[in-house]
Amino acid sequence: MTFRFDPPKLVDNDYKLTKSVKSRDLFKPTGLITRQNREARNRHRSYIIWLTGLSGSGKSTIARELERVLFEKKYQVMILDGDIVRHGLNSDLGFSLEDRKENIRRIGETARLLMEAGIITICAFISPYSSDRKRVREIVPEGEFIEIFVDCPLEECERRDPKGLYKKARSGLIKNFTGIDDPFEMPNKPEILIDTQKLTVEESVNKILKYLSKNSYFLDPAEV
Ligand code: ADP
Repeated sequence: MTFRFDPPKLVDNDYKLTKSVKSRDLFKPTGLITRQNREARNRHRSYIIWLTGLSGSGKSTIARELERVLFEKKYQVMILDGDIVRHGLNSDLGFSLEDRKENIRRIGETARLLMEAGIITICAFISPYSSDRKRVREIVPEGEFIEIFVDCPLEECERRDPKGLYKKARSGLIKNFTGIDDPFEMPNKPEILIDTQKLTVEESVNKILKYLSKNSYFLDPAEV
């Protein structure tokens, strides 16, 4: 039997936001293995966990611990983190409004690809603008973008200053620093809010795991 491969053309409506796609000669990706196949084999759903908050609020710390716990449960999980992405994929981008927007757009698309590959993708990015976060939410099916607001007052972030960046920003060595001379737009309705002044790292991770369990993100209801 001859296998006939007849790729359907990608039409508007197939993907949200197609207006921003320049090429009209695109075809729908038609791999034989679906995301559902991958999820069934992994024995868990795939989705994006998006941590947003000021620098020093605790995004990377929580992301690392969450990744460790999920990995130990034998889940496919991966972190995308600001410093790593800005070294490679987004090394051409700075911190202007346009660059920040493009930074988050590329990260969102990368997270979507990882999610399509069956991986739970933990994104830890300041991502200060609501519109940029909303755009990522919109490119994945409903329920597959879990926004976590890692909430911590500026004064406490500045006191922690784990990378010495606030000090540099205050002395004018870094411009456009979120919280100092650039805004942070708080999420209106994040799926999860974590106050890192009140919760320890372990408690924060447990709060996320409870949310995932309660909302059926684990295929096995006995999980967590
Ligand atoms: P971000 O990724 O948001 O820039 P980091 O995770 O790199 O922040 O740094 C947060 C700092 O705050 C770390 O030094 C961490 O040890 C400290 N910290 C103190 N309490 C907490 C908490 N409850 N959750 C997360 N981090 C905390």
